[in-house]
Amino acid sequence: MIPTIGALLLQEDPFQVITNFLESPILRLAGQLVLLVFVVLWVALVYWTFTDASRRGALSVLWGLVAVVFPYVGTLVYLIVRPPEYLDESRERELELAVLERELRNNVHLCPNCRNLVERDYLICPSCTWELKKPCVSCDRPLNMEWGLCPYCGTDQRSGKKLTW
Ligand SMILES: [Zn+2]
Ligand SMILES: [Zn+2]
Repeated sequence: MIPTIGALLLQEDPFQVITNFLESPILRLAGQLVLLVFVVLWVALVYWTFTDASRRGALSVLWGLVAVVFPYVGTLVYLIVRPPEYLDESRERELELAVLERELRNNVHLCPNCRNLVERDYLICPSCTWELKKPCVSCDRPLNMEWGLCPYCGTDQRSGKKLTW
Protein backbone atom coordinates (compact mmCIF):
# COMPACT_ATOMS: atom_id res chain seq x y z
CA MET A 1 0.00 0.00 0.00
CA ILE A 2 1.33 3.43 -0.96
CA PRO A 3 1.07 5.85 1.97
CA THR A 4 -0.51 9.16 1.10
CA ILE A 5 1.00 12.44 2.23
CA GLY A 6 -1.86 12.89 4.64
CA ALA A 7 -1.15 9.55 6.22
CA LEU A 8 2.54 10.40 6.47
CA LEU A 9 1.78 13.70 8.13
CA LEU A 10 -0.59 12.02 10.54
CA GLN A 11 2.01 9.50 11.56
CA GLU A 12 4.40 12.09 12.91
CA ASP A 13 4.07 15.53 14.33
CA PRO A 14 3.01 17.45 11.20
CA PHE A 15 5.21 20.36 12.17
CA GLN A 16 8.21 18.15 12.57
CA VAL A 17 8.69 18.10 8.82
CA ILE A 18 8.69 21.88 8.63
CA THR A 19 10.95 22.19 11.64
CA ASN A 20 13.38 19.73 10.15
CA PHE A 21 13.33 21.63 6.91
CA LEU A 22 13.89 24.98 8.59
CA GLU A 23 16.78 23.62 10.61
CA SER A 24 18.48 21.93 7.71
CA PRO A 25 21.95 23.34 6.98
CA ILE A 26 21.06 23.66 3.30
CA LEU A 27 18.27 26.09 4.04
CA ARG A 28 20.45 28.07 6.41
CA LEU A 29 23.11 28.31 3.72
CA ALA A 30 20.55 29.32 1.14
CA GLY A 31 19.20 31.95 3.51
CA GLN A 32 22.67 33.34 4.06
CA LEU A 33 23.28 33.38 0.33
CA VAL A 34 20.08 35.30 -0.30
CA LEU A 35 21.05 37.74 2.45
CA LEU A 36 24.49 38.12 0.87
CA VAL A 37 22.92 38.82 -2.52
CA PHE A 38 20.70 41.48 -0.98
CA VAL A 39 23.65 43.10 0.80
CA VAL A 40 25.81 43.06 -2.33
CA LEU A 41 22.94 44.52 -4.35
CA TRP A 42 22.43 47.19 -1.71
CA VAL A 43 26.12 48.17 -1.72
CA ALA A 44 26.13 48.18 -5.53
CA LEU A 45 23.06 50.41 -5.59
CA VAL A 46 24.66 52.81 -3.11
CA TYR A 47 27.75 52.99 -5.30
CA TRP A 48 25.69 53.43 -8.45
CA THR A 49 23.50 56.12 -6.88
CA PHE A 50 26.56 58.04 -5.72
CA THR A 51 28.37 57.92 -9.09
CA ASP A 52 25.25 58.62 -11.12
CA ALA A 53 24.37 61.59 -8.91
CA SER A 54 27.84 63.08 -9.24
CA ARG A 55 27.78 62.60 -13.01
CA ARG A 56 24.47 64.40 -13.21
CA GLY A 57 25.58 67.21 -10.92
CA ALA A 58 23.11 66.23 -8.17
CA LEU A 59 24.08 66.19 -4.49
CA SER A 60 25.98 62.90 -4.74
CA VAL A 61 26.97 62.60 -1.05
CA LEU A 62 23.40 63.23 0.06
CA TRP A 63 21.98 60.71 -2.40
CA GLY A 64 24.65 58.17 -1.45
CA LEU A 65 23.59 58.55 2.18
CA VAL A 66 19.93 58.23 1.26
CA ALA A 67 20.75 55.01 -0.59
CA VAL A 68 22.61 53.73 2.50
CA VAL A 69 19.91 54.63 5.01
CA PHE A 70 17.01 53.48 2.84
CA PRO A 71 18.21 50.39 0.97
CA TYR A 72 16.62 50.07 -2.51
CA VAL A 73 13.93 52.62 -1.72
CA GLY A 74 16.49 55.44 -1.59
CA THR A 75 17.80 54.53 -5.02
CA LEU A 76 14.28 54.22 -6.34
CA VAL A 77 13.43 57.71 -5.09
CA TYR A 78 16.66 59.01 -6.59
CA LEU A 79 15.73 57.44 -9.95
CA ILE A 80 12.47 59.39 -9.92
CA VAL A 81 13.86 62.80 -8.98
CA ARG A 82 17.33 62.69 -10.55
CA PRO A 83 18.31 65.26 -13.18
CA PRO A 84 17.39 64.01 -16.64
CA GLU A 85 20.82 64.22 -18.24
CA TYR A 86 24.49 63.97 -17.46
CA LEU A 87 26.31 67.16 -16.57
CA ASP A 88 28.89 66.61 -19.31
CA GLU A 89 26.14 66.18 -21.88
CA SER A 90 24.27 69.33 -20.92
CA ARG A 91 27.51 71.33 -20.84
CA GLU A 92 28.43 69.97 -24.24
CA ARG A 93 25.02 70.84 -25.62
CA GLU A 94 25.20 74.36 -24.24
CA LEU A 95 28.61 74.76 -25.83
CA GLU A 96 27.37 73.44 -29.16
CA LEU A 97 24.43 75.80 -29.03
CA ALA A 98 26.68 78.74 -28.28
CA VAL A 99 28.95 77.86 -31.20
CA LEU A 100 25.99 77.43 -33.49
CA GLU A 101 24.54 80.74 -32.38
CA ARG A 102 27.82 82.54 -32.98
CA GLU A 103 28.12 80.96 -36.40
CA LEU A 104 24.62 82.03 -37.21
CA ARG A 105 25.30 85.57 -36.12
CA ASN A 106 28.57 85.80 -38.05
CA ASN A 107 27.92 83.93 -41.25
CA VAL A 108 24.26 83.98 -42.00
CA HIS A 109 22.82 87.10 -43.43
CA LEU A 110 19.28 87.74 -44.44
CA CYS A 111 18.06 90.00 -47.18
CA PRO A 112 16.32 92.92 -45.43
CA ASN A 113 13.69 92.92 -48.16
CA CYS A 114 12.68 89.26 -48.69
CA ARG A 115 14.38 87.58 -45.65
CA ASN A 116 16.07 84.98 -47.85
CA LEU A 117 19.60 83.82 -47.01
CA VAL A 118 22.33 85.84 -48.68
CA GLU A 119 26.10 85.67 -48.49
CA ARG A 120 28.03 88.34 -46.66
CA ASP A 121 29.61 89.73 -49.83
CA TYR A 122 26.54 89.70 -52.09
CA LEU A 123 25.92 93.03 -53.76
CA ILE A 124 22.40 92.17 -54.80
CA CYS A 125 19.90 89.71 -53.34
CA PRO A 126 19.53 86.83 -55.84
CA SER A 127 15.92 86.30 -54.81
CA CYS A 128 14.45 89.80 -55.05
CA THR A 129 17.30 91.84 -56.63
CA TRP A 130 17.36 94.15 -53.60
CA GLU A 131 20.59 96.12 -53.45
CA LEU A 132 22.45 94.77 -50.44
CA LYS A 133 25.90 96.31 -50.83
CA LYS A 134 27.74 98.63 -53.13
CA PRO A 135 31.11 97.90 -54.70
CA CYS A 136 34.00 100.11 -53.71
CA VAL A 137 34.70 102.63 -56.47
CA SER A 138 38.38 101.72 -56.29
CA CYS A 139 38.81 98.04 -55.28
CA ASP A 140 35.31 96.68 -56.01
CA ARG A 141 34.94 95.01 -52.64
CA PRO A 142 31.42 94.92 -51.20
CA LEU A 143 30.72 97.80 -48.85
CA ASN A 144 27.72 98.51 -46.68
CA MET A 145 25.44 101.04 -48.32
CA GLU A 146 25.99 103.63 -45.57
CA TRP A 147 29.79 103.46 -45.59
CA GLY A 148 31.41 106.60 -46.98
CA LEU A 149 34.87 105.13 -46.92
CA CYS A 150 36.16 101.74 -48.08
CA PRO A 151 37.70 99.94 -45.07
CA TYR A 152 39.76 97.74 -47.40
CA CYS A 153 41.56 100.31 -49.52
CA GLY A 154 40.75 103.58 -47.76
CA THR A 155 39.06 105.22 -50.72
CA ASP A 156 36.46 107.91 -50.09
CA GLN A 157 33.39 106.70 -51.98
CA ARG A 158 32.17 110.15 -53.01
CA SER A 159 35.37 111.80 -54.12
CA GLY A 160 37.10 108.58 -55.20
CA LYS A 161 40.25 109.77 -53.54
CA LYS A 162 42.38 107.55 -51.36
CA LEU A 163 42.67 108.74 -47.82
CA THR A 164 46.23 109.67 -47.04
CA TRP A 165 47.77 110.01 -43.66
ZN1 LIG B 1 15.93 89.70 -51.20
ZN1 LIG C 1 38.04 99.79 -51.73
